Amino acid sequence: MTMNLMPVEDALARLLDSAVPFARVQEIALGDARGQYLAQDVVSRVDVPAFDNAAVDGVALRYADLDEPGLTLPMPLRIAAGDPPGTLMPGQVARIFTGAPVPAGADTVLMQEDCEIADGRVRLPAQASVTDGQNIRPAGQDARLDEVVMRAGQRLTPQAVGLIASVGISQVRVYAPRVLVLTSGDELQAPDEAPLPGKIYDSNGPQLEQLLIQSGFAEVRREHLPDDPAIIQATLTRALTSPDQRPDVIISTGGVSVGEEDHLRAVLEQQGQLDFWRLAIKPGKPFTYGSVDGIPFFGLPGNPSAVLVCYLMLVLPALRRCCGAENVLPEPFRLPADFSVKKAGKRQEYLRVRCVPKNGNLVLEKHPNQSSGMLSSAVWADGLAVVPVGRTVSEGEILSFFSFPDLLG
Ligand code: AMP
Ligand code: MG
Repeated sequence: MTMNLMPVEDALARLLDSAVPFARVQEIALGDARGQYLAQDVVSRVDVPAFDNAAVDGVALRYADLDEPGLTLPMPLRIAAGDPPGTLMPGQVARIFTGAPVPAGADTVLMQEDCEIADGRVRLPAQASVTDGQNIRPAGQDARLDEVVMRAGQRLTPQAVGLIASVGISQVRVYAPRVLVLTSGDELQAPDEAPLPGKIYDSNGPQLEQLLIQSGFAEVRREHLPDDPAIIQATLTRALTSPDQRPDVIISTGGVSVGEEDHLRAVLEQQGQLDFWRLAIKPGKPFTYGSVDGIPFFGLPGNPSAVLVCYLMLVLPALRRCCGAENVLPEPFRLPADFSVKKAGKRQEYLRVRCVPKNGNLVLEKHPNQSSGMLSSAVWADGLAVVPVGRTVSEGEILSFFSFPDLLG
């Protein structure tokens, strides 16, 4: 019997539709907030800049004083950044420096390179060479008092942190979901143990933890599950009933395929609710989604590159939507393939590719080994190129390309 595989777009649409905002939010210092998602709108406490100020080092004057050609005016005022603005009388100019407040009465700033300054006087240039109001950064050009400068759901990039600081705010409320990462499999051992026969080192746990941290979810707890339904059930129950460790989202790896030792999905069905599984995605077909006790449960496959692809293309967009984000996936770049794919597939394939220059343009180079069990090709790659279901690719054909930094940014 062949089961229909759910298209990736349908799975993503269902994940986004069922996303509920995370209940856990935290007020933290702005300096600790980079990479996290705002759980509040940010409203400016001031105008930014707070006053009209000079954009260059030079001379502040009245544009009208340029009427008379070749005038030399006295310069009794000197205003540096941080000084009070002072007042300019008609027929005077002021020495002014970048960021200094423009004095009352002045409306234009000349660059020092454009005027002759000597003995406390300034010879003015022809009016035709000057624009009324030039070189002044007006108050409120960046932000206005009471203006919403950032919205809930936006990610705190370094520049967002800078903008929020510039409006006089030092604490922000961010989403702080607790993420429980469950690895599974009797074959797994920790990287600090001596290698045992038949065992492999756990790479999904460390990889997922770092993916989460890099995408703004720092509260990660990891547990390992043996291939034993009773222990899996007991572990889940313990996690759900623990008052200070109850997760807001659960992400598991392994144990959701169709083998006799794949118990996670069965436990999810018994203890919670299975929404869908088996996607037309390569790598990552066994992807499973459901909930336990109202907590979203993402059952990722065991293969490490499938974990990477499913996290980036499905889990992370869903987590972002639970943080109120509008844009949950970047727009892919469109780049030509420097390879061909002869056989059309039944699943949408995410190829590990590199961007390389060729004849002055970027092209996509595919790693020769796309095995879902391999991570070295994912480390080699710059990102993922998408080959839709039923499509072959000829050399030079344009494909969608998601770079890893873009996906995680
Ligand atoms: P499963 O879906 O449990 O059958 O796992 C599929 C493949 O992924 C098997 O080869 C597992 O050994 C491997 N695998 C599962 N979990 C991990 C893990 N945490 N780290 C590395 N490989 C894993
Ligand atoms: Mg397994």
